[in-house]
Amino acid sequence: MNIATENFFPTEISQFSYNETSAQEFFPLTKQEVKSKGFSWKEPKDRNYKITVDSKDLSDSILDVKDDVTSQIIGCEHKGECNEQCTTAFRITSQELQFYKSQNIPLPRLCPNCRHYQRTKNRNPVKLFLRNCAKCNKNIETSYAPERPEIVYCESCYNNEVA
Ligand SMILES: [Zn+2]
Ligand SMILES: [Zn+2]
Ligand SMILES: [Zn+2]
Repeated sequence: MNIATENFFPTEISQFSYNETSAQEFFPLTKQEVKSKGFSWKEPKDRNYKITVDSKDLSDSILDVKDDVTSQIIGCEHKGECNEQCTTAFRITSQELQFYKSQNIPLPRLCPNCRHYQRTKNRNPVKLFLRNCAKCNKNIETSYAPERPEIVYCESCYNNEVA
């Protein structure tokens, strides 16, 4: 028996659609793929935001950004065409603008939902790779894929190194 799949409730009684759960973060699928597996897909709301500035027309340097940017409705670079629950537009709050200025960080080009999905892409996959400890050569399992640049140690070599 496959415990991992057979003990879950059937997806048709789920309160949530596939693309509004963390499943979409770990195993991103397109609408067609989700439908073909018999899962449900949440369609985006029709938001009709009146975009006043396109993200590509924002200044590259935060130093050139005027304070009135907080009254702009900025178009997300993904324009609702991704599978990331894009809200198509966003605003910058004055606290946010102050923070970007104090840290010399450029304005975001993506809406908060799309930004969240870009961050999740930096996470290691939910998958273990068979590798060898870089120090003692022991067989280990790690979420760092073999082609990645990081050096991986077994637990005891790691503990010896950081102790
Ligand atoms: Zn977006
Ligand atoms: Zn997006
Ligand atoms: Zn080792």
